[in-house]
This record gives sequence, C-alpha cells and structure tokens, in this order.
Amino acid sequence: MSATRSLYEQVILDHNRNPRNYGEPAESQLQVEGVNPLCGDAFILFANLDGDTLSDIRFSGHGCAISKASASLMTTLVKGQSKEEALRLFHLFHDMLQSDIQIPLDEEALGKLMVFAGVREYPMRIKCAMLPWHALHELLYKDTTIQA
Ligand code: ZN
Repeated sequence: MSATRSLYEQVILDHNRNPRNYGEPAESQLQVEGVNPLCGDAFILFANLDGDTLSDIRFSGHGCAISKASASLMTTLVKGQSKEEALRLFHLFHDMLQSDIQIPLDEEALGKLMVFAGVREYPMRIKCAMLPWHALHELLYKDTTIQA
C-alpha cells in the first residue's frame, strides 16, 4: 500500500469517527433523505440557502464508513459555497468515481475529493460514496437524473 493511499484511508477513518457538520439542526430551510438500501446507508441532509449560497449544511443518520465519511467531507467542501460550485464539485466527484482506474486522475483539480479515489476499485462502494452527493444534488436542484 502506498503512503498516499494510506493517508487517504486515514482521512476517511477520521471523517467516519468524527463526522463534521453532523447532527440535526434546530431548523433548516431544506432537507432531503438519501438512502442506499444495498448497504443500509440512510442519511438526512439539512441546508440553508442565503440567496445562492449554501450558508449552512448538516447531516444526520447512519451508514457505512464510506458513506458517512463522504457526507462529512462533502459538507465541509460545499458549506459557504454557491449552488454552482456545489454542482461543479458534484460532477467532479461523480466523474472521478466513474473513471477508469487505469487513467491517472487530475489530483490538483480534485483536491480533497482524491481521498475517495480508491473507492473506484469497489463498485458496490461507489454508491455509498455518491449517496450524500446525490442527496445534495436533489436538495439543490430537486433532480436525481444522474445516478452512480
Ligand atoms: Zn454504504
């Protein structure tokens, strides 16, 4: 196992153990459920929009380490960002997970999303990693036409 890969796994474990932005807020403008019955992942996303900015985003629920860490990382990346930026990150993450494992990734463009690059080796896990992002997409655009 490479040092980089080991580092990525540590980041996933850390987000799973200490999920960021976890817990149901007192009130939120928007909320949506994300469920992956194949794995048993079930989360609820809560968000507030200030104009076009995601001023707050939190999540609650439970799932496997991959889905929970993905939800945690996702909230840290999109909080305070515009809807357009959140959508850009959604597509970046989606395209990375769908990409051929043999093709090198643009690590600079992907940034922290690279943490989940190894998930491509486990097709069942791709749905787990995408679940929070699909929920985010639905929350912002009420549209789930793009599937993992
Ligand atoms: Zn899962």
